[in-house]
Amino acid sequence: MDLNLNGRHALITGSTRGIGLATAMELTSMGASVVINGCSQQTVDQAIASISNKATNAKLTGFAADLSTAEGCQSMIEAVPDLDILVNNIGIYEAKNFEHISDEDWEAMFTVNVMSGVRLSRYYLPYLLKKDWGRIVFISSESGIFIPQEMIHYGFSKAAQLAIARGMSELTTGTNITVNSVLPGPTWVEMQKVRLRKRAEKTGATVEDMKKHTFEERRPTSLLKRYATSEEVASMIAYVCSPASSATNGAALRVDGGIVRTPF
Ligand code: NAD
Repeated sequence: MDLNLNGRHALITGSTRGIGLATAMELTSMGASVVINGCSQQTVDQAIASISNKATNAKLTGFAADLSTAEGCQSMIEAVPDLDILVNNIGIYEAKNFEHISDEDWEAMFTVNVMSGVRLSRYYLPYLLKKDWGRIVFISSESGIFIPQEMIHYGFSKAAQLAIARGMSELTTGTNITVNSVLPGPTWVEMQKVRLRKRAEKTGATVEDMKKHTFEERRPTSLLKRYATSEEVASMIAYVCSPASSATNGAALRVDGGIVRTPF
């Protein structure tokens, strides 16, 4: 199986922590040179240092840009005009009752989760089509199919990503470019702990209680019955970025621990 990414250049948006950071680690270990992105230079530098500590030969550069804005996306494109792999990973999520989701919340969900990937892909897809090799991956979520009642605005943004990725894949017919989505389920990243601690504090519960609650109440159809690790999710993303995945295009690949009950 050809997982070799030597000579390939990848941009992973939002790669200073969580799933993006784990993906950067994985692509680096497969030989790719990777651009790390986050909102601040400090977090970008920290992420580069943490990968370099584990992988001394890692080929890494960094670019801090707020990709929630058109200007931020444009500055990213100007800084990295040439790449082979784009992983549209940045995403925000927050549990909120439907009646409390404001216009601003809906707009933020749309701008960050949907428009960042649209704005970058609008430049990179035609660019990759000219080179005739490339991978674009949207990091969606099981919430794009199994719309969670506690964050409908998030589900909407993740469903939109699925539609965009599938539509873009139609533009790659007969080429060596693929556009796919990866759908993680609940994944244990640093920020989950912070979020669960906040929720636990409100009710006097512990983080462990909240973890149990996630699989008993919020995601009872999980077959995994635990949070996936960011490395487990990164393995799927890395595969779909690799030459080995060349016949997988326009697909929605689930790493959701079996939450979504339909077989496809
Ligand atoms: P995270 O909050 O741990 O990390 C998000 C990253 O995005 C960080 O590096 C942050 O700096 C960056 N970021 C956020 N807003 C940005 C902006 N405007 N400009 C530039 N960078 C920005 O998130 P995560 O849990 O690793 O999630 C990554 C992706 O996976 C998201 O799209 C999320 O929706 C999806 N996802 C996560 C889970 C989960 O349980 N963690 C489940 C399903 C899908």
